[in-house]
Order: sequence, then structure tokens, then C-alpha cells
Amino acid sequence: MSDTLRLSDALDRVKPSATIAVTTKANELKRAGHDVIGLGAGEPDFDTPDNIKEAAIQAIRDGKTKYTPADGIPELKEAICAKFQRENELTYTPGQIHIAPGGKPVIYNAFVATLNPGDEVIIPAPYWVSYPDMALMAGGTPVPVACGPNANYKLTPEALEAAITPNTKWLLLNSPSNPTGAAYTREELRGLADVLLRHPHVWTLTDDMYEHLVYDDFEYFTIAQVEPKLYDRTLTVNGVSKAYAMTGWRIGYAGGPEKLITAMRKVISQTTSNPCSISQWAAVEALNGPQDFLPERRAVYQKRRDMVVAGLNAAEGLTCATPEGAFYVYPSCAGVIGKTSPSGKRIDSDKDFAAELLEQEKVAIVFGEAFGLSPAFRVSYATSTEALQEALTRIQRFCANLT
Ligand code: PLP
Repeated sequence: MSDTLRLSDALDRVKPSATIAVTTKANELKRAGHDVIGLGAGEPDFDTPDNIKEAAIQAIRDGKTKYTPADGIPELKEAICAKFQRENELTYTPGQIHIAPGGKPVIYNAFVATLNPGDEVIIPAPYWVSYPDMALMAGGTPVPVACGPNANYKLTPEALEAAITPNTKWLLLNSPSNPTGAAYTREELRGLADVLLRHPHVWTLTDDMYEHLVYDDFEYFTIAQVEPKLYDRTLTVNGVSKAYAMTGWRIGYAGGPEKLITAMRKVISQTTSNPCSISQWAAVEALNGPQDFLPERRAVYQKRRDMVVAGLNAAEGLTCATPEGAFYVYPSCAGVIGKTSPSGKRIDSDKDFAAELLEQEKVAIVFGEAFGLSPAFRVSYATSTEALQEALTRIQRFCANLT
């Protein structure tokens, strides 16, 4: 094999996904016949609703199988405008909407369209693993800000104020959060908005992907809704992946100022081109069609969340807060650091905890280091109640056996 290939400096700054090691190991164990329970999934275990599938089948039959405008068909843009108006009190015109193959490329396109060397992106930690690396790939500088359990895993106005510099381009908000499930109340967003109003050069990218997955009567707000003066410098990102169980269909979208959306259109037109035409028609049905399955699924997730939080708190050395949304919890494992497993292995980090839990009890979780705040780990409860129950039993046994 020739070794003359020199990779790009931009890619050199990006670290390989830290979650891959655990996933690879879990798959190896599964292939070897072990009964592994995976709590790493970042996608709903529910199926895409039938009416959405039917809309896609109809689109195929109708021959809607060709290129579309680069950043989406007018019908989906209209449906997205209606969604933003109905659910978020945000008025966008179709020219202010960007549609891409998933929420992830929407965020990447926004970074590519706006970041210059030296531009900083404030990212509250723990964060979704892709944010810092996408900022790096687009030539920017991620600035993680630790938001630990004392702050309920949320950015405070004081921490935001301290993180802003003349080079700050974006504040990245994610509510409810992957990996903690924490969601910002209207008052909390108000506090952040007051800081942002004092710094007109800072734009906000809010990733609202888990908007519909909130529990206990939590009332969802997004920042441009709370402070309309920020509308002109906010990109409101959302998508159908999580709420409508459509991860494989690849449709994400955003609303924002026309200048930014036009720049993002330039990026998508020279890279992926349009998102899949059939998926776009399915997304039209997702947004315009019946929404009654959402509360039913929410109720199932909430039950699982409560069971998982209780089960983790019953494990020696773990403490787990009850988050407002998403399908993740982010327990601290500070209480097991320094302990030794029956195999003789010392648990010095959350990475060790995850590796040893997988080795001993065949439960796969994602260690906190990957999300920028340790010692902790992420559990996804987007899996069956029976599997969760068994996983909790194993985690409790694992922790009880540490000395
Ligand atoms: N934003 C967050 C916080 C996520 O957790 C994910 C997926 O895991 C995405 C965006 C990406 O969504 P999509 O699958 O639509 O690209």
C-alpha cells in the first residue's frame, strides 16, 4: 500500500469517535456469542409511523424520484414554516429554511458557511460528541464550557458571560441535551438571552432535535421564541429523526436569517445536493400529519426514564439526576473511581468503568470522557423495558462487587 497520501490538516485536528471503541468491543462480544445489552443507541427503538411510510411509498409511485432544489422542496419548507409557527411561535418564510440529510449536516453546513480561522464556538459540556469535531473540521475553535451536576448540566448566564470573547462566533445550545437529557426552562433561556443581548456579535445555534421528548409537563421553549430580539442572529435547528423515529430517512432542517440560509444553500449545492426526495415527502407527512402518537411514546419514555434513574441510584457509587427530556441519563460514577473490580482491574476513569462493565457484565454504555465531562457515563433508554431491567440488575451487581 502506498503511504504517499497526506491527509488534510483540518482532519488531523479531529479525533476519531471515542464511542467507537466501546461499540466495536460490544459487537465483538456479541459475535462471540455473549449476551450483550447495548445502552449506547442514539435512536428511538420505535418504528416510523405507518402514515409516514405510506407517504414515502406514494411519492415513489408518483415518480417523485428526481433531484429536488438543493436545500429542499417548497412543500416541505412550507410544512416546516407551519411547524415553527405552530409549535415555537417563530415566523419564517420558505427562503429562511434549510433542509439537509439530517440535523448533523445542517449544523455542519452552518459552520462551513460561517467559521473562519480563530472563530470560537462555545459548547456547553457535556456535549453531543459531534459538535467540537464539526467546528474543527469547518476551521473553527471549539470552546467547551463545563456544566456539571451542580448546574444541572446547564450553561449559566455567568459561565456564558465568562466564555464570550471578541472571537466568539456561535453559542451552541442543545435542549433537551444529548447526553444528559437536561432541558432549559423559559427562565433559564431568559437569563442566557440577557447575556447575549449585551454581545451582539455572538450568534446562537440551537439544536432542538429532542424538542418533543420532554416529560412531567415540562414546557418547551426555544431561545428565539423567548427573546425575539435574538431572532436575527439565531439558527433554530430541528429534524424528524428523533421525534418521528426517522433516523434512517435523513432529514434535518433549520430556520434562520436569509443571509445565513443563502450561504448554507451554497454549501449544500456543492456537496450533497438535495436530501433524498422520497424522505422529504415522508417528512411533509410527519410534520403535517397526525401527531397523536407523540404523547403515547412520550409516556413510554418517561416510565423508562424513571425506572432507569431509580435503578442507577440504587447502584453503589452512582448518582443520577432526573433529566427533563431526550432518552438519555448521565449518571456520575465518581463514587466508584479508585475501586477495584473482581478481575483485579482498578477503575481509574469512566473509560475504565465502561470497559470493565462490558467485560464483566456485558452491558455497553458510553463513557463520559467522550462527551467532555467526567467521571460519568451515558445510558440510552431507547430500548425495551425488559432489556433495561436486566441491564440495571447487572450494573448494580457490578458496582456491588467493586472493592
Ligand atoms: N443533534 C443531536 C443532539 C443529536 O443527538 C443528534 C443525533 O444523535 C443529531 C443532532 C443528529 O440528528 P440526525 O440523525 O438528524 O443527523
